[in-house]
Amino acid sequence: MNEASHVALFPCAGMGHLIPFLRLAADLHSRGAAATIITAEPTVSAAESDYLSNFFATFPRIKRLQLHLLPHKKSQLTNDDPFFIQMERIADSVHLLQPLLSSLSPPLSAAVVDLPVLSRVLRLASLPIYPLITTSARFFSLMASLSHLPPHENDRLEIPNLGSIPVSSIPPPMLDPNHYFAAMITTNTAALREARGVLINTFASLEPEAVEALRRNGVDHILPIGPLPPFKRSETVIVLPWLDEQAPESVVYISFGNRTALSKSQTRELAAALEMSGCKFLWVVKGSKVDKEDGEEVEAMVGAAFLEKTEGKGKVIKGWVEQERILAHPAIGGFVSHCGWNSVTEAAALGVPVLAWPRHGDQRVNAEVVERAGVGVWEREWGWGWERLVPREEIADKLRAVIGDGKLRAAAKEVKQEARRTTEVGGSSQRLLQGLMESFKTN
Ligand code: UDP
Repeated sequence: MNEASHVALFPCAGMGHLIPFLRLAADLHSRGAAATIITAEPTVSAAESDYLSNFFATFPRIKRLQLHLLPHKKSQLTNDDPFFIQMERIADSVHLLQPLLSSLSPPLSAAVVDLPVLSRVLRLASLPIYPLITTSARFFSLMASLSHLPPHENDRLEIPNLGSIPVSSIPPPMLDPNHYFAAMITTNTAALREARGVLINTFASLEPEAVEALRRNGVDHILPIGPLPPFKRSETVIVLPWLDEQAPESVVYISFGNRTALSKSQTRELAAALEMSGCKFLWVVKGSKVDKEDGEEVEAMVGAAFLEKTEGKGKVIKGWVEQERILAHPAIGGFVSHCGWNSVTEAAALGVPVLAWPRHGDQRVNAEVVERAGVGVWEREWGWGWERLVPREEIADKLRAVIGDGKLRAAAKEVKQEARRTTEVGGSSQRLLQGLMESFKTN
């Protein structure tokens, strides 16, 4: 044990950022480092504050350093997403950390920070700083090249050393220089060279070309340390007893993550598709982007008739579920996913075939990783979340195809083996994490 190493970890907004940071903190802690989590308060979602409370109850020796945010100062940039607004607010409050960080004991050896605050933290602290990238290496390659890319002349954008990405896969705010998202990327990727290393929650064999492209494109200090493993939580987690009664690999799990709500009409079509497909299902529904505003009952969302007709065939849940426990359950045979990057890494680590249904942000590029790696399939015609209403027949066909596809199941299991190899002793992610611990000692 080397308690002299002390690492601060600073996630920004949203569960998709918080979870990998907490997984890394738990991992470093288990290797003997002292850890402090910087939590920006108040959080946007109730899920974040609940998850944090549970985490600190599980790991009483990991410290919490609260950063009380300044009110949001509206800038010239377009920003109407509550999670992006929180990121902007956090970056504008970073200077408040200075006295808090220097009073920590033992003194910090390093800080692991979220990309949206990288440049601000670098200006503030004379410590080794490591961003932890919570998206795919493929999407991060696009981010890292964004400010040098020539204007696209056709419908594809050429990423040096990687190939082209269809413009239709790039979230529109990223191509709008007046948008917060584009400005955040440009400012912070320009600071990557000053980082001691760039951690990313992926593994080299999942997306080898993208990791290699990053190395060649100036991010040669990229450290793929994923898939970051889940940690054991203190509360008893109940995986639905219903799942235990189902045949192996017979149930489709459907979830679009923490910040994506389907439209009312798409929710109805999906319900009809589930009924039509005859597949067993476990569906996590969400009525609005921010959970605190999500008051609608399950019955009102999917219809009482649907719940009645599918009784015994499936379960609809509203609220937080232990996704990694569900994906690990032997009854699960497929995952309809928006392809948030954490969901993709969890499906890959557990060998669950994915039906990719990206809705916004990095999710289309992530869906391409899913497809290339052989973890799943992606129906490109379904478009972004706002582009078209995907009819029930199309969804039902795809659901049946994915759950019945033996080849896809075998390919997903192969990826699971690769993920296991990388995270066991001697595996590439393990070695990088061990090397990171060593470098904390010498800093
Ligand atoms: N998650 C969960 N239970 C839920 C919803 C989400 O455990 O009810 C977890 C999921 O396992 C993943 C993260 O929350 O680790 C979601 O992150 P992702 O990047 O997939 O999507 P986002 O929510 O950021 O869109």
